[in-house]
Amino acid sequence: MQTIVVASGNKGKLREIAEIFTGFSVVSMQEAGFAEEIEETGETFAENALIKARAVCKALGQPALADDSGLCVDALGGAPGVYSARFCGRHGDDAANNELLLEKLAGVPEEGRGAYFESCVALVFPDGRELTASGRAYGRILTAPQGTGGFGYDPLFYSTELEKGFGVASAAEKNAVSHRGKALRALAAQMEGMR
Ligand code: IMP
Repeated sequence: MQTIVVASGNKGKLREIAEIFTGFSVVSMQEAGFAEEIEETGETFAENALIKARAVCKALGQPALADDSGLCVDALGGAPGVYSARFCGRHGDDAANNELLLEKLAGVPEEGRGAYFESCVALVFPDGRELTASGRAYGRILTAPQGTGGFGYDPLFYSTELEKGFGVASAAEKNAVSHRGKALRALAAQMEGMR
């Protein structure tokens, strides 16, 4: 089975990538021996995904897969977007990020709470080949957290495709409609075409 190193330390993302990208041995960059911080200096999800995948592929000499993703809220002009992981000012504090999001949307009625998750994935090979794909999941921001499933903003996201919140959906339900599921399946289809 081909090994793919995932350029992320986010456990929620890693779990989902392994669930969706079956047929490969998916290992985290830490497991593969890469412990450096990668600065995400891009202005788009696609730029950041390529920055991360290129850095890990170059350091380890193995195919590397990165996901850069985030939540884009209509009423906030698309924020937090590429800053989703550090919306509250600290990196990866999901509880504080969710609290801030609820605060910013206080008083906004249901019809004004539209949002989508976006994921861009990049797969970089040691011979220089690069593949990218993206996906979106549409929905709205709830007024209070629901459920404990998923990670990040999931307890506040109601999926219009699923007609339920990501926080109360099973892993299989979320993966079937999620931004990451769509992006990874599109990437897998491109890989089929490469053989
Ligand atoms: P990244 O590691 O810079 O791509 O940051 C992604 C951030 O976006 C995560 O830390 C979460 O806050 C948010 N995010 C991305 N995908 C999801 C998801 O599937 N559910 C909930 N939050 C997500």
